[in-house]
Amino acid sequence: MSDYKFFEEVNRYFDKAAELTRFEKDQPGLLRQIKRCNSFIHESMPVKRDDGSIMNIDAYRARHSYHKLPTKGGINFRWIEDAQDENEVVALAALMTYKCALADVPFGGAKGTIRIRSKKDFSPSEIERIIRRYTYTFTHIHKVFHSEKDVPAPDYGTGSQEMAWIFDTYKQFASDDDPNPSACVTGKPISIGGLRERVSATGRGVFIGLREVCSQPDIMGRLGLSCGLEGKRVIVQGLGNVGYHTAKFLEANGAIIIGLGEIDGAIHSAKGIPLDDAMLFRIEHGTLKGFPGTKNVRRISDILELDCDILIPAALENQITHLNADKIRAKIVGEAANGPTSSYANDILFSKGAMIVPDIFLNAGGVIVSYFEWLKNRNHIGFGQIDRRFDKARLQNILAVVEEQTHTKIDPNRIEHVTRLSTEEDLVISGLEGTMIPAFEQMRVIQKEYSDTIDLRTAAYFLAITKIGQCYLDQGIFP
Ligand code: NAD
Repeated sequence: MSDYKFFEEVNRYFDKAAELTRFEKDQPGLLRQIKRCNSFIHESMPVKRDDGSIMNIDAYRARHSYHKLPTKGGINFRWIEDAQDENEVVALAALMTYKCALADVPFGGAKGTIRIRSKKDFSPSEIERIIRRYTYTFTHIHKVFHSEKDVPAPDYGTGSQEMAWIFDTYKQFASDDDPNPSACVTGKPISIGGLRERVSATGRGVFIGLREVCSQPDIMGRLGLSCGLEGKRVIVQGLGNVGYHTAKFLEANGAIIIGLGEIDGAIHSAKGIPLDDAMLFRIEHGTLKGFPGTKNVRRISDILELDCDILIPAALENQITHLNADKIRAKIVGEAANGPTSSYANDILFSKGAMIVPDIFLNAGGVIVSYFEWLKNRNHIGFGQIDRRFDKARLQNILAVVEEQTHTKIDPNRIEHVTRLSTEEDLVISGLEGTMIPAFEQMRVIQKEYSDTIDLRTAAYFLAITKIGQCYLDQGIFP
């Protein structure tokens, strides 16, 4: 077993940035409070298998920070080597806290894990029973899940189907004091209060973040790359929700996908790999290996070491480590997954001049759009439902006045374009961009204050710590 400790890795990044704040001097103890996990529950759940036998499944919920409520964070299916080890779940919850603070999303961080080796070992009805038992446990027994206390979402191995089961179970066991039960979980199907664009939100956010990075002449100049995503050679590890949508948006915006890696195989082609064709091939053949026009990569982890402009680890944590950091040739590492780069590897890549776009910024799209879904559920009304038609009529009136005053006729197609009714998708995408871009700009301001001697991750943590610390100071600590 490796001695890798995920939470300690996160805390190394935290400590490095915390040194740049004044909190330790002005308010001793505050940094320790921000860093520590506020609560952690480990539950052993009985779940009936299809053959009637009982399995005992370890399940966890970490709520890292109550400085803002509700706490928010996904539920994943993953294997933790030592059932007693809370380290990984707490680390992921801490990342949620910093991510939300950086993006000004008013949540504390949380994370839940259901400890199974692979979903494939269970039938769909067994997975449903596991999810329902998990929800019952954390709603009815621990009284944790609630739209104003702790709100789960999809994460590694879970998606909208699991969120629908959570919602349905929650309704049966939640106490009557939740006026907004549909806000108890995000990432739901549209029919039960989900939001269009949530499924692809994290990938879209990764794309927006990378587009911003690639639009900065000074950064791209230092990396020896041209500005813009057009023609950038991209490798993606992990083609699940985040990896697939990231690759899809990058491909649609002119980047060339030259490498894809999954657990069943990895492929490479300098000429580019059509993403959807490769995904279809994988469904038909059960592997990416052998996809026409590409070369198989010998070991799946080797995909990380191939020459490219942008490397996107989108699978799990601890992928770029002391074992391979020296061999990474990417100029930009876009951390779509949580914690894919160890702190040791981070320093090696920084000293080599590579740019790491940190997870707490780059994959924040999921929680940002979850926030919009939560707001929609609490408000009991869809975005734009009241003002959409009013806005269109107002724009039409303005254009009519312009035509009248200027004695010109505006092209009807342009009028139609300008006054088009905004959809929920339009508003969600606008909100996502309007949250991610300012976060990026703030990080750049901090980097520039330090004459670019600190990396983007340190700037991101600095901002998150400053915002959380200020929140504690403003609201005071209960005596
Ligand atoms: P997912 O389960 O949909 O997909 C993960 C994919 O990675 C799977 O297809 C899996 O087979 C593959 N994979 C696992 N190990 C691999 C390996 N060694 N090499 C190549 N492929 C491998 O999960 P996801 O929701 O896409 O999450 C991926 C990462 O992004 C996780 O770190 C998660 O915490 C993070 N994340 C997810 C969201 C979200 O909204 N889903 C939001 C923020 C961060």
